[in-house]
Amino acid sequence: MLTGIKAAIIGGDARQLEVIRKLTELNATLYLVGFDQLDHGFTGAKKVGLEEIPLNELNAIILPVSGSGSTGEIETIFSNKKIYLTEEILKQTNQTCTVYSGITNDYLTNCTKSLNRKHVKLFERDDVAIYNSIPTVEGTIMMVIQHTDTTIHQSNVMVLGLGRVGMSVARTFANLGANVSVGARKSEHLARITEMGLKAFYLKDLESEVNKVDVCINTIPIQIVTANVIAKMPAHTLIIDLASKPGGTDFRFAEKRGIKALLAPGLPGIVAPKTAGKIIANVLTQLLIADQ
Ligand code: NAP
Repeated sequence: MLTGIKAAIIGGDARQLEVIRKLTELNATLYLVGFDQLDHGFTGAKKVGLEEIPLNELNAIILPVSGSGSTGEIETIFSNKKIYLTEEILKQTNQTCTVYSGITNDYLTNCTKSLNRKHVKLFERDDVAIYNSIPTVEGTIMMVIQHTDTTIHQSNVMVLGLGRVGMSVARTFANLGANVSVGARKSEHLARITEMGLKAFYLKDLESEVNKVDVCINTIPIQIVTANVIAKMPAHTLIIDLASKPGGTDFRFAEKRGIKALLAPGLPGIVAPKTAGKIIANVLTQLLIADQ
């Protein structure tokens, strides 16, 4: 149980509703900021303004998956009011107050570091990233179906990167009957790709591997699908870039060549906000209990 735990949930999207649900079920006291347009009420959770939170009593500040913007603005889909998390606000919390977000940026990292507050980036954890890869793959399948006029079955699908997302994407598309090739830079990754029954290639050979690709799915967060690579792709190739913004594709060149290239951020929150919220809520609960 989380009896006695006080947390502020500041901003977010539908995923935060699962977090609120779970934490209130476990008897935490929640202050909800940026939820004034939310019709639903939760026992144990008060909708308040930032200035109404007893900041010095908080055990945790829970931010949206995105963390904050570059000047501290916090995204919320449940309010039109602007919310900013500033150093002045964070300074009023107790030294033991932990900040939780999915990812971070320089602003948020500097803010928490300079005030010596613990900051947990949930999406850096392997468990969260692996669970989250499930709705990411489902969203990718949805996008491929929407933007092609052929089946996934029998099509040539290339996946770039064999990380937590890449592995799930590669395996699922192979299970749907696609001819999957996966590009990676480490020899142990090539070994794993081969063991999975897929075609493995080194990323340094990417340019020579793309001449028959129907769908290219990138998970590598650096410029990897360059103009030189795109120039060698068939004109009908669909590029889905899953890597975090700004993605790893030269979108301008793709457009110039008439190749459809789509940056597809935040798929779990789009295709399965409830599941994506539960993934966050479960890990957050474990962490709050362990921190007690
Ligand atoms: P990950 O486990 O860290 O995997 C990243 C992959 O990129 C690894 O295969 C890594 O290879 C490769 N890589 C990184 N830097 C590279 C470089 N300089 N050259 C070649 N390869 C490089 O990350 P993940 O959890 O799979 O997530 C992948 C991306 O998807 C991230 O940007 C993440 O934010 C994003 N994401 C997007 C969605 C969405 O909805 N679109 C959902 C979840 C995650 P090495 O092991 O060789 O470094």
